[in-house]
Amino acid sequence: MKKTIKITLLLCLLAGIVCIKQKDAVASSITPPTIEPVIEKRPAFENIPDFPKLPYRNGIGKPEGVVLHSTGDTSKSLDEWIQYEKETWENAFVHAFADASHTVEIANTDYLGWGAGAIANKRFIHVELVEYPDGTSKETVLKSIEQYANYVAHVLHKYNLGTPDLMDNNGEGNIITHRGVTQLLGGTTHTDPFNYLPKWDIPISYITDRIQYYYNKQSIN
Ligand SMILES: [Zn+2]
Repeated sequence: MKKTIKITLLLCLLAGIVCIKQKDAVASSITPPTIEPVIEKRPAFENIPDFPKLPYRNGIGKPEGVVLHSTGDTSKSLDEWIQYEKETWENAFVHAFADASHTVEIANTDYLGWGAGAIANKRFIHVELVEYPDGTSKETVLKSIEQYANYVAHVLHKYNLGTPDLMDNNGEGNIITHRGVTQLLGGTTHTDPFNYLPKWDIPISYITDRIQYYYNKQSIN
């Protein structure tokens, strides 16, 4: 594989054309599975009187983008994560969880969540990729990424945030990993989803490509 890339790069140089970066070559070597994209709304905090309904820094219903998380722990299923957040929302909560079957939105995205420190929380929606344990088929993991990407594209459209653009590199855009928040904005120390994606040889460029795919698809619908 590496040899092929080197030869391709050499041919590109000789031909004088712009070559793709190696990480993009890896991303394009993954074949995305076919899924039925499902977004389920399952409000988890509606009956909690003290549950916060706080505006983003630009106001209610005005998020600026999405923080891409992964759960950081392979021991819980999506349903178990939701139950866990119902019990511990006073410490932290996110807006949605994605696994291989669906994304479940548990909190109203018009209001901020508590997922990545005070700076990012005032700006962004939070979505978690449910981490599968070792031994799970890669197909299942890739299906969870499809659901995750579909949901991110959905909120980008919902709030007119424009075409997906990863902030991690230059601080500008409308999607950012939790690690990107740690590095660029502060207020948090987590490094997800980079604790998880490399285990499955999935580069972040693959995730952004899939978000772009669903973003384009939803533009037509
Ligand atoms: Zn996180």
